[in-house]
Amino acid sequence: MSTTVADVVAALDRRYPPAWAEEWDRVGLVVGEPDHPVRRIACVVDVVPETVDEALEAGADMIVAHHPLLLRGVSSVAATTYKGRIVHRLIKADVALYVAHTNADVADPGVSDALAARFGLTGLRPLHPPRPGSPADGPGRGIGRIGELPEPMTLAELTRLAAAVLPVTAWGVRAAGDPGRMVRTLAVSGGSGDGFLAEATAAGVDAFLTADLRHHPAGEHLAAGGPALLDAAHWATERPWLDDLAAHLAGELGVETVVSDLDTDPWTVHAAAPRPDDKEPRREG
Ligand SMILES: [Zn+2]
Repeated sequence: MSTTVADVVAALDRRYPPAWAEEWDRVGLVVGEPDHPVRRIACVVDVVPETVDEALEAGADMIVAHHPLLLRGVSSVAATTYKGRIVHRLIKADVALYVAHTNADVADPGVSDALAARFGLTGLRPLHPPRPGSPADGPGRGIGRIGELPEPMTLAELTRLAAAVLPVTAWGVRAAGDPGRMVRTLAVSGGSGDGFLAEATAAGVDAFLTADLRHHPAGEHLAAGGPALLDAAHWATERPWLDDLAAHLAGELGVETVVSDLDTDPWTVHAAAPRPDDKEPRREG
């Protein structure tokens, strides 16, 4: 008997129960017929025309994504709209779409475990545990992870390490704080981690790596004596999870999987300021 969309949904719902998602989130099956067979699954962070192209070219019958395609209410999925065109392409190609977002963030293992593994962090515990008694409440579960680096290192060294172990993006990694500050305990949170600055401070970590950090919250956090901050590209902090997701699907269901390495971060150009001894722009010839 072949694997169906319903089988994949059941396997994912067991690992990432939809009830564990934040109230504002929209997760689960977005497009697809439950009895349709699934031989190959494409794992992506973002459902955009480019990753859909890739999935279709790879012969995928289903896409499992991290970010919801449809988060806010829509009154039309006409092909004249950006998202409607994606919905049409998926339905015409008979490709199902499933989303595991904050329910995959909070799970153990979840999105930030894969991120923590890139740094070799040990003794992991959640950065933002679920509210006691909430559906996601349970041992090891929560958003973000805190752990110990294999070797203490300076913030400057850790920033270079982050740029080397995370998927390559134009954004790279930037850090805030004293470059010589020693880091032993690191908190990581895949995706936008702005909301967890206070928890990183309360946890007493030396540094916190996440994405989408902003001028005022970051500056005020540092001024108040909080941990050093590392700001990576959003996509790069969540891409590591796709390998774990694909391995789980292959192991649980025996399906083939493909993992997208297409950088869907919106930032595509980065320039470092010229060095002080290099003030005049150099021109060839
Ligand atoms: Zn995200």
